[in-house]
Amino acid sequence: MEYLRVSEAQRVVLESVALLNAESVMLEQSLGRVLAEDIRANRDLPPYDVSAMDGYAVRSADLVQVPVTLEVIEDIRAGDMPGKIVQPGQCARIMTGAPVPQGADAVMRVEDTQEISANLIQVITTIKDGHDVRPQGENMRNGDVVLTAGTEITPGVIGILATVKITQMQVYRRPRVAILSTGNELEAINDPVDMNKIPDSNTYALMAQVQALGITPTLLGIARDDPAELERYLKLGLEYDVLLVSGGTSVGVHDYVRPTIEKLGVAMKFWRVAMKPGHPLAFGVLHGTEKVPEMDVAPRCADAFVFGLPGNPVSSMVCFEEFVAPALRRMMGHSRLFRRTVSARLAHSLKMRPGRTEFVRVQLTHDDTGYVASSTGTQSSGVLLSMARADGLLVMPSDSTGLAAGAEVTVQLLDGTAYQNETNIRE
Ligand code: AMP
Ligand code: MG
Repeated sequence: MEYLRVSEAQRVVLESVALLNAESVMLEQSLGRVLAEDIRANRDLPPYDVSAMDGYAVRSADLVQVPVTLEVIEDIRAGDMPGKIVQPGQCARIMTGAPVPQGADAVMRVEDTQEISANLIQVITTIKDGHDVRPQGENMRNGDVVLTAGTEITPGVIGILATVKITQMQVYRRPRVAILSTGNELEAINDPVDMNKIPDSNTYALMAQVQALGITPTLLGIARDDPAELERYLKLGLEYDVLLVSGGTSVGVHDYVRPTIEKLGVAMKFWRVAMKPGHPLAFGVLHGTEKVPEMDVAPRCADAFVFGLPGNPVSSMVCFEEFVAPALRRMMGHSRLFRRTVSARLAHSLKMRPGRTEFVRVQLTHDDTGYVASSTGTQSSGVLLSMARADGLLVMPSDSTGLAAGAEVTVQLLDGTAYQNETNIRE
């Protein structure tokens, strides 16, 4: 198989995965989920014309000639209903959010009036009909679709759901994700320290990346580079919607991941991407209708997806960002799949070997011209500190031989939950 370009590999992944089915969730648990149904307003809001200010409900026609003295006929607080009709020469004291009484058509701010006595005020400025009145239905009209399926549930959206009294709603299910590390050299986190071993960090870095998307993954542990053991673990992993395996996907004689997943019925879509770090990346699908060979279980009802991630800690994390996260987000119904990008200027020159899209770990600072990006240090795919220190991934086009200090670059932000529709990656 050929080396795929990053954008091509992303396309293959995103065309393969599908939206998961919907499930019901309580409002209190819905933050970050994606609506699987349209939501309609169940009433007009505000329910009637209300005051936008503390002041006086007036008839604008009375104020054509100012100053003018008006009689205050009642006090209307938020939650009260007006008891009287405002006649010419009259007004009502009104609080923010209180209904504008019949007869009145505008609200005069307290600041623009003078109190003459307990029930007389003088108005010194004129105002137009509708001034400082929030018209009935300004927020929403009964029956209007206020939120459409596909909307990500943010705090603002939760406010709208509460407004229309939705306590439970349909959202897209979150994928079940399993994580497996492979390699004879790996030492589990609770094993005693053995100087000849390599601590398994991928399990936990990937766990955190999955958690950042709102999914709680299952950690399958470490499989040794042994075809039979690997097969046992991979079978377990293929019971999930998405299986992330790190290590063992390359061309070494003990890299058994690809042949083993293929033996288990997984159709490989690609296994090499022209990127740095991270090129031995494999992606495959176990189709739902296919029975897992030699397995004693009912056929799967949905496809399972396997990502064979490179073992190098930085590579597996970068591949997660570029391929796995967009796939998981699509399955959960998000339309914004890719990390938000910003333009930055390089703080120093960067040398590059052309041929592969390179993701340089950078720190971002800010000056009066905008973001400034500087490398986090040694960019070896084994140096996880380069990732731990990074605010973002600077994307170098595959044809680039390097950039001078001050050059404008595109950086994917690694923090936060802001995603966008386009990758903005130029290859
Ligand atoms: P591999 O892809 O299996 O050839 O592994 C490439 C490199 O990544 C080797 O140096 C491994 O020791 C290292 N590596 C593989 N898996 C992990 C892991 N789970 N945690 C930390 N390093 C790993
Ligand atoms: Mg290995």
